[in-house]
Amino acid sequence: METIQEVKAIQVLDSRGNPTLKVYVRTESQRGWAIVPSGASTGVHEAMELRDDKKPYHGKGVEKAVETINNIISKELIGIPVTEQFKIDGTMIDLDKTENKSKLGGNAMIGVSLATARAAAAAQGEELYEYIAGLYGNKDRLSLPVPLANVINGGKHAGNSLKFQEFMIIPRRVSSFAEATRSIAETYHVLKELIRERYGGTATAVGDEGGFAPPIKSPQEALALIEEAVHKAGYNRVIALGMDVAASTFLVDGKYDLGMPLSPDELIRYYEQLLDKHNVKSIEDPFGEDDLSAWTKIMERLGKKRKIQIVGDDLTVTSEPRVRMAAGKGMCNAMILKTNQVGTLTEAIAAAKAAESSGWEIIVSHRSGDTEDPFIADLAVGIGASQIKLGAPCRAERTSKYNRLLEIESHLSKKDYAGKKLKF
Ligand code: PEP
Ligand code: MG
Repeated sequence: METIQEVKAIQVLDSRGNPTLKVYVRTESQRGWAIVPSGASTGVHEAMELRDDKKPYHGKGVEKAVETINNIISKELIGIPVTEQFKIDGTMIDLDKTENKSKLGGNAMIGVSLATARAAAAAQGEELYEYIAGLYGNKDRLSLPVPLANVINGGKHAGNSLKFQEFMIIPRRVSSFAEATRSIAETYHVLKELIRERYGGTATAVGDEGGFAPPIKSPQEALALIEEAVHKAGYNRVIALGMDVAASTFLVDGKYDLGMPLSPDELIRYYEQLLDKHNVKSIEDPFGEDDLSAWTKIMERLGKKRKIQIVGDDLTVTSEPRVRMAAGKGMCNAMILKTNQVGTLTEAIAAAKAAESSGWEIIVSHRSGDTEDPFIADLAVGIGASQIKLGAPCRAERTSKYNRLLEIESHLSKKDYAGKKLKF
């Protein structure tokens, strides 16, 4: 049985040019690695990132987290069988002892946790997605997730004045991930031409997740533009639209500031008007993470009556207790799964299981500050998630996930694309 021989971290960069951790876990004969992503519109209930607050990198260095891994975490883990993921994560949780991982740092813990899973997969001679499927008890249900491709960026991910953070295309009525990728890339290029014609060449520059960030002000304009591109590319029967509103980012004194301050009820009415005109099937974070009664209302009016996918992200933060709370109050029917929101793979799996047992869809997700590490592609296949958010088909930290999923699809004898099973 292979045991952990060494745990080692170095400081590297993420896609925004900020420092992050690369972690290596070595066993007798194998080595696993992982690079930690980082959000910009983070939820207040997320695990805390340990950052240095010193001069280098404007306070964003992670040398303290590197030392924590190399000098503290490593000592506790050496000698443990590498396939004991739950024990390894549990050891870090016991060592940290805080609610929000502020002692060891959520970034340090998730780096070690994911690198461990890769080392364990290698030690077992398995692909990472197969190993994760084993952890999740999902070996018979491997499927390729439907990609949610963020083609227009706003909010904290772009320099334009769009308040809503993400406008996504969702190719669900195709028969493979490869066809889905093709429809996204073709639509993306048609959209680029439309933006060039309408707003000029400089407007085709991209935001943090590779989507365009033209000088658009209203969600209506963004949705209409995308629908025009979808139509021109010939995919209007295939592609539906989704939005990540990231509403916490414009919540001021209990009102949502969309140029005019809207109450939660007025904001629901605003969403209804958007849905009347556009083919939007999925809305993420329509309200702030602690505006709980508004979530229950939107689930009644849009989730249940109109079969819209209502997605918790900042609300649920990949935390089993938050998922159970939201499910108990009927607040959403889908959740975002970001491992670094919670700090260990074990806890992310527990949150996914809780979501699944409530009948929710699971959407595995990248972060706006991401890296070349395609871990989430294997994670989505391994747990059989129906969807994955991976940004636009542009910039290597985004295409690394598309490309890994294309590779996984080529391995599988049964090409099981989740689009067929989606409820919308
Ligand atoms: C999101 O909000 O879904 C997202 C990916 O952004 P961030 O990583 O900035 O939280
Ligand atoms: Mg989000």
